[in-house]
Amino acid sequence: MKLKWIRCPICGSKTRDRIRADTIMKNYPLYCPKCKQETLINVKELQVTVIKEPNAHQIKKRRMVGGIAMHEKT
Ligand SMILES: [Zn+2]
Repeated sequence: MKLKWIRCPICGSKTRDRIRADTIMKNYPLYCPKCKQETLINVKELQVTVIKEPNAHQIKKRRMVGGIAMHEKT
């Protein structure tokens, strides 16, 4: 099985994590030892997708608004 190093989406350097072709990760906090930042990622079929963590308060507000104003376009 071929392994691939996950690269940091911020600085592009290799992290300490590797993925396989059949690795699936969801909301994985990827830590970069170079820029010392943590990025939430999804991994599927060697494709790394960066997740922008939304503000918790905004999610709550959106859900409430969505529940009340159902005809409103989002
Ligand atoms: Zn980095």
